[in-house]
Amino acid sequence: VSTWSAVPAGPPDPILGVTEAFKADKDPRKINLGVGAYRDENGKPYVLGSVKKAEEILTASKPDKEYLPITGLPEFTKKAALLAYGAESAPLNSGSIAVTQSISGTGALRIGGAFLARHYPHSKVVYLPVPSWGNHTPIFRDSGLEVRGYRYFDKGTVGLDFVGLKADLQAAPEHSIVLLHACAHNPTGVDPTQEQWAQISDIVKEKKLMPFFDMAYQGFASGSTDRDAFAVRHFVSQGHQIALAQSFAKNMGLYGERVGAFSLITSDAAEKARVDSQLKIVIRPMYSNPPLHGAQIANTILGDKLLYSQWEGEVKGMADRIISMREKLYGTLTHDLKTPGEWGHIKSQIGMFSFTGLTSAQTKALAEKAHIYMTADGRISMAGLNTSNIEYFAQSVDAAVR
Ligand code: PMP
Repeated sequence: VSTWSAVPAGPPDPILGVTEAFKADKDPRKINLGVGAYRDENGKPYVLGSVKKAEEILTASKPDKEYLPITGLPEFTKKAALLAYGAESAPLNSGSIAVTQSISGTGALRIGGAFLARHYPHSKVVYLPVPSWGNHTPIFRDSGLEVRGYRYFDKGTVGLDFVGLKADLQAAPEHSIVLLHACAHNPTGVDPTQEQWAQISDIVKEKKLMPFFDMAYQGFASGSTDRDAFAVRHFVSQGHQIALAQSFAKNMGLYGERVGAFSLITSDAAEKARVDSQLKIVIRPMYSNPPLHGAQIANTILGDKLLYSQWEGEVKGMADRIISMREKLYGTLTHDLKTPGEWGHIKSQIGMFSFTGLTSAQTKALAEKAHIYMTADGRISMAGLNTSNIEYFAQSVDAAVR
């Protein structure tokens, strides 16, 4: 018998499995709303102009292919921290933020999870919003943490369950770790307001919770990287020693380049140096050092005034196109088709995703009858819609809910 005969078949990934089904479908009307990757007006992957220019600049400089240090390209991580925390940030200016490059946002979460499992002295429990990005649970579990949930989404209002959220954080044991989506919550598209963030910060302080921010969509939610950093910067201004996972997959369209950063606020430069040394010890046996090219692209954009403002315009362009698709979908469902149900959440939700409220049976019917693919929880990537397919999509949803 083979050595591996007892290995059971695992389930397909709930998100990437949708793309596999989409690829196998030969109908020309097919639409993939599963994966969270931006598509342009023609439904095609989009390489930002600022990224193309940065690559030209890089090629002209004839860079070598040497290894990066364990914690990555130092110029890049410095600029990534500036982008997240802002020029006014006290810990940034006092040199007490430990930061390392990571393999995109996933890698940042994994480094953070592993670091907390090893060095956070108080708790091994992390609270995730319910629901959360599907990969959060396996990432933290594989990091050695115990995963629990706090209420986040109210199915009745298709909005934030703020009462439940506050009650669950208040009931969590002191010093627990709490994962917060900095903006553009995935999968619901529902974010706390600025006033609600301030209240969450107060509870986190009162209960001495350890806030771990996942910021995978800075700039993508509102079109402004500063506005989308509100929650992170508010928490830092309130003295929280946050952990932060950053991804440049969405806001620079660098998905496959795997560019990200993990950072942790420490109390002073000496403590930061000790944390840095332990981050290296976490990372070295995982993958030695991070990939070079994507970090060089991001570093070039963030370090060049003209490219930076071009990039800001392109981020806003992506956010605006998504917002216009929300308006168009809402209008088509409610005004043109008079589709039964309440669809206001399509317009009010934020970021790449909309939690449509479609049931898993309806999503199945949409795949089988209309060749439209989404995750079974009814989440759609708004970026997969464009002026050529949005009417067909709306009509198919209309048919599915009647
Ligand atoms: N966190 C959230 C909430 C996400 O939606 C994603 C991307 N789907 C990530 C982290 C990480 O993505 P990546 O590893 O591609 O940066």
